[in-house]
Amino acid sequence: MQTRDLSSHSPYVPGRGIEEVARDLGLDPDELIKLSSNENPHGSSPKASAVVIDATETTGLHVYPKASHTDLTTAIAGRWDVADEQVWLTPGADGAIDLLSRAFLEPSDVILESDPGFAYYSMSARYHHGTARTYDLSKADGFAQTAELVLDTYDGERIVYLTTPHNPTGSEFSREAIETVAAGVDEHTLIVIDEAYGEYSERPSSIELVDSYENIAVLRTFSKAYGLAGLRIGYAIVPSAWADAYARVNTPFAANELACQAALAALEDHAHVDRSIETARWAREYMRENLDAKTWDSAGNFVLADVGDAETVAGRSQERGVIIRDCTSFGLPECVRISCGTEAETRTAVDTLNKVLSEVSAQS
Ligand code: PMP
Repeated sequence: MQTRDLSSHSPYVPGRGIEEVARDLGLDPDELIKLSSNENPHGSSPKASAVVIDATETTGLHVYPKASHTDLTTAIAGRWDVADEQVWLTPGADGAIDLLSRAFLEPSDVILESDPGFAYYSMSARYHHGTARTYDLSKADGFAQTAELVLDTYDGERIVYLTTPHNPTGSEFSREAIETVAAGVDEHTLIVIDEAYGEYSERPSSIELVDSYENIAVLRTFSKAYGLAGLRIGYAIVPSAWADAYARVNTPFAANELACQAALAALEDHAHVDRSIETARWAREYMRENLDAKTWDSAGNFVLADVGDAETVAGRSQERGVIIRDCTSFGLPECVRISCGTEAETRTAVDTLNKVLSEVSAQS
């Protein structure tokens, strides 16, 4: 027995977990600071946590998620002033990428994505018998994201992904650039604007464009600013013209009961989200000002830094208790990505990294 040919599929490489690293290094997990997966250093909203504990006893875990899915959909629709049908609830933004692949890709269709960029767009395309091409962000240009860059590379692909803020660089598309791309592609091309880090940006969401363009969908997640990465809940906002496709491509009950209830509570916990955003904005500026390495402006909850040899620097930083992301798997073997921690975690991370950097440069 064999699977189909999966040789072109590469596995997703996640940031390493605290327990995993602690076990390897023989350390107590509490001694480690994990800044490798762009998680929320303040954890989940206390209101969301309370709802999860309560839901196990009240609603119970034995029922399929139905009312909770409807309630969350309505709350998100209200938040963005769109119709309920335009909200596609999914297990994480990753789930929304899959549903859009299912709804749009025929075998051999092609998607266009950035390089470097988020790995799951092309993974999902391949799962759905498609392939991927890339538009290349230039390090020399500060990984600038422009309409020209996308449209010069564009060759009729079925889906074009725009990640803003961009992972792992933190750069953004302007509103004007997004509209230029949306107006510049063929009629059959869907523009997916991935705003997984949208809350940390100062720019308005492209959800405002969804009702004016039938070819724009926007992804959002509860994994980052809302601190619910472990529950896997996110969504796409799509134009009403084809919003009904959701019912035809959705995995039954994919957004689970606890996730839907927790997300609803998190959405209403403004104090937690505001604090999360404020800390991330402080931390990215602090890193930009104090890291002894070249960094780039970031609109996300992380900063990319050029450290020369990412594997060595990330490895030594980890030995000293600070886990950061070696960006070799993004095609940037000279860069690390450091997520924004709490104020104390960020200060410790910068001190640690600066020590590692001076140690490594003294040895070379
Ligand atoms: N898009 C981007 C750019 C991301 O970095 C991530 C997660 N790291 C996601 C989407 C998916 O997030 P999730 O599935 O946790 O919502």
